[in-house]
Amino acid sequence: MEDFANAILKLFEEPVYLHGSAVPISVRLGIARSGDAAAGALLNAAESALDAASALSDRPWSSFDPTTAIRQARSRRLEGDMRDALRNRQFFLLFQPQIEFTSGRLVGAEALIRWNHPEFGLISPAEFIPIAESSGLLCDIGRWTLFEACTEAAAWPAELSIAVNVSALQFERSDIEADMRDALSCTGLPSSRLCLELTESTFLNQGGPSIVKMRALRETGVVIALDDFGTGYSSMSYLADLPLDKLKIDQSFVRRMNGNPSIFEIVRAIISLAHGLKLQVVAEGVEEEPEAEALQRLGCEMGQGYLFGRPEEALRMLFKWSVQKSLSAKV
Ligand code: C2E
Ligand code: MG
Ligand code: MG
Repeated sequence: MEDFANAILKLFEEPVYLHGSAVPISVRLGIARSGDAAAGALLNAAESALDAASALSDRPWSSFDPTTAIRQARSRRLEGDMRDALRNRQFFLLFQPQIEFTSGRLVGAEALIRWNHPEFGLISPAEFIPIAESSGLLCDIGRWTLFEACTEAAAWPAELSIAVNVSALQFERSDIEADMRDALSCTGLPSSRLCLELTESTFLNQGGPSIVKMRALRETGVVIALDDFGTGYSSMSYLADLPLDKLKIDQSFVRRMNGNPSIFEIVRAIISLAHGLKLQVVAEGVEEEPEAEALQRLGCEMGQGYLFGRPEEALRMLFKWSVQKSLSAKV
């Protein structure tokens, strides 16, 4: 199969000449064989393989795979249903507590979106956010999330903040500052209680303009956190230029730090680097007590993870933590 694909691709290696100028051609190949589908459906099978090839980075061709085709069909269905989902209020937010290690107090929560699909049930953002990005609906969903999260947090005690995820594409395409100002002014939430979580890809993809945009945002008083730190390219050079307040250590480090001396040293170094840059540190994915203890010893300010609570409805989270507070006050 590989030889066959390469032989076809080789035919397109030479540039085509248009009015004397060489125009290079980029070719992707989707391969379906007669055994893969009935004659009428063969073209669809080849298109499915072509879609899969477009997503590959290591080679420009792919052959038909029924499992991939099922995944693609589900994606297309979700993409089609998404617009109605926003209108029909099928999206909702859950909130995961963020805890200050030294005091054990609840200091805020991260808003995490869910989609309650009428047929497929609960769908994770890891599945539908990429689809929303490619369908162009992400900015609408992001605006809704910002508004909903601020509405919720405005009713919370004043010492609690709310963190909202903003994906790289949303940051680039939408007027995030205008959306944020709208959400804050309509809900009455002070900007200092809103934290926007951005990922490294925001700056790596867009460079200088994204930093200018971020500076303007931060001047409004909103808190900016760098999410999933340590996962992407992790080039350190951009850190010096970014107007950040917090750094979130990715859960993949946190969960391996005890029992793996190298990872432990990386976590120690990240915390020290963040403090050197005057950033607060939030550890993500804290599941076990020994992880929390080690992080606290290393000077990490805040933690988030199943140890403290899974994402849940706001009222339930607030109730648990107020009960916890009154219990510890009695001890
Ligand atoms: P994230 O911002 O890094 O969020 C943390 C994810 O880790 C959440 O998954 C959370 O449920 C999970 N998590 C938290 N603590 C633990 C733990 O102790 N153990 C384990 N195994 N997992 C833990 P979730 O809710 O599925 O969200 C996944 C990602 O989807 C988020 O990663 C974020 O990048 C994106 N996302 C979620 N909500 C939104 C949103 O409203 N807008 C955008 N643009 N992206 C969102
Ligand atoms: Mg996040
Ligand atoms: Mg994260």
